[in-house]
Amino acid sequence: MKKKIFISIFSLVISLIVILSTSVTIIFYVNYEKREIINLQNDSSLIIEGINEDGLNYLTSLEDYNNRITLINDDGNVIFDNMIDASTLENHLYREEVQEALTNNYGESKRYSSSLLKRYFYVAYKLNDGNILRLSSEIFSVFYFILHDLWPIYIITIVSIITAIILARFLSKRIVDPLNNIDLDDPLSNNQYPEIEPMLIRINNQHRQILSDKEKVEKAYKIRQEFTSNVSHELKTPLHIISGYAEIIGNGIASEEDTKLFAKKILNESNRMTSLVADIMKISELENQQIKNFEDVNLKNLILQIVDDLSLSFKNNGIKLELKLNDIDIKANKDHLYSAIYNIVDNAIKYNKPNGKIIINLIINKDNRPQLSIKDTGIGISKEDQERIFERFYRVDKSRSKANGGTGLGLSIVKHTLNNMNATIQVKSQLNKGSTFIIIF
Ligand code: ADP
Repeated sequence: MKKKIFISIFSLVISLIVILSTSVTIIFYVNYEKREIINLQNDSSLIIEGINEDGLNYLTSLEDYNNRITLINDDGNVIFDNMIDASTLENHLYREEVQEALTNNYGESKRYSSSLLKRYFYVAYKLNDGNILRLSSEIFSVFYFILHDLWPIYIITIVSIITAIILARFLSKRIVDPLNNIDLDDPLSNNQYPEIEPMLIRINNQHRQILSDKEKVEKAYKIRQEFTSNVSHELKTPLHIISGYAEIIGNGIASEEDTKLFAKKILNESNRMTSLVADIMKISELENQQIKNFEDVNLKNLILQIVDDLSLSFKNNGIKLELKLNDIDIKANKDHLYSAIYNIVDNAIKYNKPNGKIIINLIINKDNRPQLSIKDTGIGISKEDQERIFERFYRVDKSRSKANGGTGLGLSIVKHTLNNMNATIQVKSQLNKGSTFIIIF
């Protein structure tokens, strides 16, 4: 890139310098030709005046005149020449300028002189006596002028070329250095060119994306590891209990009554294991595939069905139920939605106080969205725990959860399910006063 910029700047300056110096030379040279003809014409007028006054003797007085003066008679014979012996010169009648002067009184030409073997400008005038006065001056080549008159321009040109090289090197370095010095770890910190800002913003975003992707992968890996160790831990406990009681029964040392009790405990633990495995399978299913088969679901009817299915549980726990349900239809997967709401209502019963109350409200909220709230008057959840209850296996009171047959996976499944159906869930709770779970569809 540096080389490219250098070449661009250098070629630009060099082209300008070459165009400029060549133009000056051409203009100078073209003007020189015009000037030279005018000079010869002016000199001719003065010499003609001199001849008119002093006759041909006037010509001999012009020995020091630096241009060539030739006098030719109307036969073409050379009468006088201040540079060459006239008697040695051939007949000049057919010289271009002489021919022109004979017919038009004035002639001019620019040609090679066979007498002096150089290129000359010629002007010729027909005098009153019929003779032709011809003045000529040597045409110098353009190189002659470059060496004699235009050399300062060419020295300036060479100096300019050297300056251009130095300047082009300096400028290309100055342009490229900030680009070379961009800190790609923090691209926005050293942007000197607004033109590349969009590119730097993109690099910065990609950078952040990579970092956040890395964090996400690490987090996912950590969650998976925690999950695996939690699962094995959760399975190990009931298995220990089951094998312990089975061993006692197997040894035949337990009384009949104890055997019945142990068998009941074994059944409880295996039921817990079954629901744990069912929950684990549900979680992995939710993680691996999107919920499909959306249909029109009447939320009011769904809730009525859930509370009906839980009516025994309400009755056993002495929980009163208050329903304020609007008739609202949404698009959802009915089975998944049933499980999620069932879980929340079930928790509201499980974590309620004796003779507590549950209020279920279904409305269209101020943002015009269906909103379901399930409020209980139970044990409540502390602020710190509110942030964690949606995590897998998180239980505020492990023994109470276990006693209720909980796995600690319920709310995690609920959150996953609702998010999968474009709904959100949040909790508001006060310890010992109760909790409200709010779902917005
Ligand atoms: P669990 O199977 O233990 O009920 P969940 O995931 O359903 O697991 O709930 C996680 C934890 O959140 C519960 O163990 C409990 O401590 C707390 N929790 C859930 N619902 C309520 C509620 N309505 N009132 C008080 N605590 C609750």
